[in-house]
Amino acid sequence: MSEPVALTLKPKDFKSDQEVRWCPGCGDYAILAAMQSFLPSLGLEREKIAFVSGIGCSSRFPYYLNTYGMHSIHGRAPAIATGLATTRPDLSVWVVTGDGDALSIGGNHLIHALRRNVNFKILLFNNRIYGLTKGQYSPTSEVGKITKSTPAGSVDAPFNPLSLALGAEASFVARTLDSDRKHLQQVLTTAAQHEGSAFVEIYQNCPIFNDDAFEVLKNPDSRDETLIRLTHGEPITFGPEGKYAVVRNGWGIKVAETASVPPSDIVVHDETVTDPSYAFALSRL
Ligand code: SF4
Ligand code: MG
Repeated sequence: MSEPVALTLKPKDFKSDQEVRWCPGCGDYAILAAMQSFLPSLGLEREKIAFVSGIGCSSRFPYYLNTYGMHSIHGRAPAIATGLATTRPDLSVWVVTGDGDALSIGGNHLIHALRRNVNFKILLFNNRIYGLTKGQYSPTSEVGKITKSTPAGSVDAPFNPLSLALGAEASFVARTLDSDRKHLQQVLTTAAQHEGSAFVEIYQNCPIFNDDAFEVLKNPDSRDETLIRLTHGEPITFGPEGKYAVVRNGWGIKVAETASVPPSDIVVHDETVTDPSYAFALSRL
């Protein structure tokens, strides 16, 4: 039996020898750094950790981690990771995907993995654009988005990835931000501890094709609270206790109760579901 090495591993142990090939300023760098800092806390040998990705800028992630992994097929990472997670329950399995890969090409695979509650963690890097193929509108782009593929503006309403995941009865749903290292690592930690599918949407800036899609503000009413505003969309509030939510297994979502808060603003608490606003929260996410 191999000796446990968890406590001796450092973030640098999770850096691969591959040259990182994202554009300068890409939000993926911050997510990668946060992940490399987080992974030692899993207390697992690198051989017990696997990252499976699809196709897209975010899907280069497994190259840059010194773990096992697979850069797989467009949209199919959840299917491949399902096989891995179900045959090797001793592994910590992570899926890395983007808004196009997960919600368009791989939409079916995503929802069926979530309804099956496969024990892996899905990280959806949402930059609201197709980056790798040079800037077409994606399933999360706002209505009216002007791109090379929509020169007159997109006419499609975007997915809310969290709503989609909840509709598939996901047992853990979270949203966080590339540039909020502290919160991102908190969410990764909580997701890793979850038994079953954990769905984590990470707002990720693409400075080349969709710069400033997310506006990050400090809440003037709470110095601990960060507001993340979609530049073209509804504002979303995250409370200090959580920009994550678990909707089964005794965890719940609570909507901010003041009438002045827009319905789409949610505050998430790690408390048992007892509040009648729970159903309201689900319907308004
Ligand atoms: Fe990052 Fe956008 Fe460049 Fe892709 S195209 S690497 S998402 S900045
Ligand atoms: Mg994208």
